[in-house]
Amino acid sequence: MVLKIDNSAISEWNGYKGRPFLISGPCSAETEEQVMETARQLSGLNMISIFRAGIWKPRTRPNTFEGVGVSGLKWLRNVKKEYGMMVATEVANEKHVYEALKYGVDMLWIGARTSVNPFTVQEIADALKGVDVMVLVKNPINPDIELWIGALERISKAGINRLGAIHRGFSTYEKTTYRNQPNWQLPIELRRRIPNLPIICDPSHIAGAREYLHEISQKAMDLNFDGLMIESHIDPDKALSDASQQLTPNDLRELLSRLILRNASPSDPRLLDVLGELRQQIDVFDDHLIDLLEQRMKVSETIGRYKKENNITILQSARWDEIVKRVMIKGNAKGLSADLIDSMFKAIHQESINRQMKIMNNGIENHSNDPQQ
Ligand code: PEP
Ligand code: MN
Repeated sequence: MVLKIDNSAISEWNGYKGRPFLISGPCSAETEEQVMETARQLSGLNMISIFRAGIWKPRTRPNTFEGVGVSGLKWLRNVKKEYGMMVATEVANEKHVYEALKYGVDMLWIGARTSVNPFTVQEIADALKGVDVMVLVKNPINPDIELWIGALERISKAGINRLGAIHRGFSTYEKTTYRNQPNWQLPIELRRRIPNLPIICDPSHIAGAREYLHEISQKAMDLNFDGLMIESHIDPDKALSDASQQLTPNDLRELLSRLILRNASPSDPRLLDVLGELRQQIDVFDDHLIDLLEQRMKVSETIGRYKKENNITILQSARWDEIVKRVMIKGNAKGLSADLIDSMFKAIHQESINRQMKIMNNGIENHSNDPQQ
């Protein structure tokens, strides 16, 4: 079902300078000097529409830097005055909303740890009734699109009509390359469900490390996202939060200059051409398959070490029979041909055996690189 919300096009938002709509600034406001100098350098890029800085920081553990609080709002007001950039910060309760509005903050975002909680989102929505401010809702930390849409609906119903979503990836139990899994199919589905909702990608919180920022930003552009929120700090390594994922304003300029902006279909600039979008989806699923295979092989290797230590043979025919039977039944129920399941699992099984053979024949194993140890 497609949801129609009353929303204005992002091209009409304050400070819009064209696609991608860029939001940048430090993860956290730390000192007046750090805020003002970052803003000075970012405004010098002439590309950034909104200056961001976290004033209240949701941190996983206590006794870490939890933001400077209200005093930082004065610095944001100075950024606006001095450099003419719109300013944005995260709000996580109604008090934050009132304080931020008091200091003229132009854009509020609801963080991933807040958008999971309908009570808190409703509290924020109630505080926003009758207020004209830009609001972005980050995806909840768990990959639940209904929860994300629910949060967006609550804010929309409060009368906010410059509303957008931020895709910042999803938390997983397994250790993965990125800090948060992108699960690109979720923002794609969000676009399908609410076509007139701008979607901004936050490569910083997906990546968790500088080296992946460009590839994620490029992917977001290829998927026709409207904008990017990228964290930038004058001295990233010394940042009090998210040090490894922030970029200097200069490195941000360099990253942006390498982005290739492909045109969406000329008749409707909001939509990717259908074939392009479907191909992107295929790439997303293929990436998933590769990641899953990598994880499966790691478990096979752990089993290989266990077999070796306990003097068990590699090939356990009964177990292999059990696997084949199980996947055949599952595959059949999902409409996958027996041929596909048969050849795919034979190849996977062979790869597992090869790896376990290598472990068996490898004399004393060096376990130092083993994540399980
Ligand atoms: C942030 O933007 O700095 C932040 C805390 O993000 P998230 O809610 O995505 O973790
Ligand atoms: Mn951050």
